[in-house]
Parts: sequence; structure tokens; C-alpha cells
Amino acid sequence: MDVIVLGGGLMGAASAYFLARRGARVTLIERKRIGSGATVASFGNIRRSGRYLSQLPLAHRSLRLWGEAEKMLGRDVEFRATGHIRLIFDEGSLADMRAYAEAARPCGLDLEEISPREISARFPGLGPDAIAASFSPRDGSGNPRLIVPAFAEAARKLGADIIEEADVETIKHTSAGFLVATAKGAFAAECLLNTAGAWGARIAAQFGEEVPLSARGPQMGVTEPLPYRILPVIGIWTRDKDYGAYLRQVERGNIVFGGAAERVSVDLDPGHAAADPMRLPAQLRAVARLLPAIARVAVIRTWSGCEGYVRDMLPVMGRSATMPGLFHAFGFSGHGFQLGPGVGDAMAELITTGGCETPLDDFSVDRFSHNNGA
Ligand SMILES: Cc1cc2nc3c(=O)[nH]c(=O)nc-3n(C[C@H](O)[C@H](O)[C@H](O)COP(=O)(O)OP(=O)(O)OC[C@H]3O[C@@H](n4cnc5c(N)ncnc54)[C@H](O)[C@@H]3O)c2cc1C
Repeated sequence: MDVIVLGGGLMGAASAYFLARRGARVTLIERKRIGSGATVASFGNIRRSGRYLSQLPLAHRSLRLWGEAEKMLGRDVEFRATGHIRLIFDEGSLADMRAYAEAARPCGLDLEEISPREISARFPGLGPDAIAASFSPRDGSGNPRLIVPAFAEAARKLGADIIEEADVETIKHTSAGFLVATAKGAFAAECLLNTAGAWGARIAAQFGEEVPLSARGPQMGVTEPLPYRILPVIGIWTRDKDYGAYLRQVERGNIVFGGAAERVSVDLDPGHAAADPMRLPAQLRAVARLLPAIARVAVIRTWSGCEGYVRDMLPVMGRSATMPGLFHAFGFSGHGFQLGPGVGDAMAELITTGGCETPLDDFSVDRFSHNNGA
């Protein structure tokens, strides 16, 4: 079976790898450089806590693969299962966390509730005003710069062709499948997988499939390096988006942070998302509630990335509803980094076997069409 994968972010590179592992002949076409889209901008959170319940089976599948990534890809992609703590500062958010934990338990996610005394004993310096926290011990983080090149290189070793800096000119459907004309030549295959991230809705629209997707850029920042003390990823349960911050410390010592600032709208042409320095003070105030010591640390860089947010905040994954041989995996709505390896594995299973053991129905491309009643 021949498959063209369109878009070389985490979803495309992981799909190329798992497709090649299942024996498919794969051509991955990326119009820029591999991994240079939303993925490289990611905070790197490998978090299941708080995820939509319908996504947990896919998130579990993905977490297992993150755990195998170093062995599977032959490279340390800095996956560290250091745990994920979410601090709680008010009773309403505590009730939200407990309700979520109860609903998520039958779906295979166990969240531990911890008291203020345990927070200060186990995680000194974090959230002195917190009234409780949840802790998910098997979650953690990975390096957004390493994972896509690692998947692409491993796919190449299995025989996949990785074509970079190839602007796509036309996509045609022929009796034999798909013909993709690019600046680097034309490529043909019986199947086409659309992993074009924030640009994925444009590809779908070419086949008459409308997906309500907006391109937006969350804002991130990183501090100077400090002694490595903070192991888990830190977030918050809150109903107030002005406080919805998160942070983690990388092993080299820098503290990466994000959240709390509004995601700005991004023009898909050229798709460059810029961080806004005016948003930094409010963002840092929210981060300081989680880690007061950040007030004494210098921020050395801010950035953003162009991510596709679907109206219901769920991705589009699965078969096209209009075109046999076409598949989609795009619109990961700000939480695709954790899912990436699982998405690649699930899409490869679906394309090569016609079925997928992980439920994908909630992500179908036609859920927004009138005929579907959505
Ligand atoms: C700032 C930021 C922080 C984030 N933090 C987290 C986090 O902590 N945890 C988490 O789980 N998720 C996070 N996310 C979300 C996560 O990074 C994304 O959901 C995920 O990386 C999306 O991967 P992708 O492969 O779908 O898209 P991308 O990485 O954007 O890849 C799509 C690729 O398709 C290419 N492309 C587009 N059109 C075409 C075309 N016509 N032909 C060829 N190539 C094309 C693009 O150039 C791009 O390289 C974050 C996102 C951002 C922006």
C-alpha cells in the first residue's frame, strides 16, 4: 500500500513511522522543515488529567508509546514521567477536580488528591496558598524539538521518503488514488493522510468537507537556567482563564511557562504566530501564584505557534466522509503533543487494516455537517 502523508509535524511524522512499520510505502510531504509547525512551539506537556473523557483511550495509547519512544526511535526524546500536579485555590475548582477524577477513573485515569501539607512536603515552593492539588504520577513532559525529527528519521530508516520544503501546488484524485504536485515533483499514492495541522481544514475543504477551525497562537516563555529542583509539570484547576497558567523546569534548569494569556488569532498565510510582550506581565502574575520564586527570575525568550482549534476543541481524526482513500488527523486544539505518538499509531492501524482498536467516532470529520444533526 502507498500512502502520502501531507504535513510533517508530530502527527505526520508519527504516522509516517507507524505506517512504514506496518509495511506501507510512505511519502511524507512537508512544505517547510519537518517539525517546524505548532509542534516545535509546544510547551511539551504530556498530560492526561483534565482531558476530554472521549480522548482518554487515545491518550493512554499515546502515553504507552511515549514510554517506549527512546527504545523505539533509538534516541532520547526527553520523555520524563515526572508526574503532573494541578494546584487548586478555591472550593469551586476543588469540586470540579473531584467530579473530573470520579468520571475519569472508570476510563483508566487515577488522580491522587493531595492536601496543602503534602504539597509543601513533596513539592516545596509550589502554590503556598493552594487548598489542595491533584497529582497524576505517570504523566510528564517531552522535548518538542526532538520528537518530530526522531520519528521522521526512524521512518526514513524503514524506507519512508521524507520530502521537505515542498510547496504543494495541486492535489488531484485519479482513478488510481491521489496525485500531489509539489515544487519538488509529483507524488502518487492510493491513500492520502491529511496531517496539515492548522492548515488541515483547507485540505479537507478541497474534498467538500467543512471543519470550523480557527488558527490561534498560545503564548509561551522561558526563564534563565536555575538549579534543577522542580520535577513535575505544574498546572492549575480553575474556572478563571486569567489564572490558567502552567510551568515546568527542564533538566538544564530553565523554567518554561505558558497559559493565562489570551490566544491570539493567526493568519494562515504565512502562519507566523508572534508572542505579544504586553501579555507577559499578566501571564507571569498567574505563573507566580503557582511558583512565587519566579518573580526573582529573568525571562529570556517568549514565543508562540500556529495551532488549529476546532469549534468543539476536539481534533478531526479518521476517514474522509466524502473521498475513499482520504484520511484526516488535524486540528488538535492545543493538546496534540501528548496525543501525537498515539495518533500516528492509530491512523496507521486504521489505514492499513481498515479498523482501529481505539475509539475515534467522536473525532469524525462530518460531525459538523447538517446531515449529521450536529
Ligand atoms: C505554543 C503551543 C504550545 C502547546 N503546548 C502543548 C502542550 O504542552 N501539550 C500538548 O499536548 N499540546 C500542546 N500544543 C499543541 C500541540 O503542539 C499540537 O496540537 C501538535 O503539535 C499539532 O501537531 P500537528 O502535526 O497536527 O501540527 P503541526 O506541528 O503544525 O504540523 C503541521 C505541518 O503541516 C505543514 N503543512 C501545512 N499545510 C501543508 C501543505 N499544504 N503541504 C505540506 N505541508 C503542509 C505545516 O508546515 C506543518 O509543519 C501546543 C501548541 C502550541 C502552538
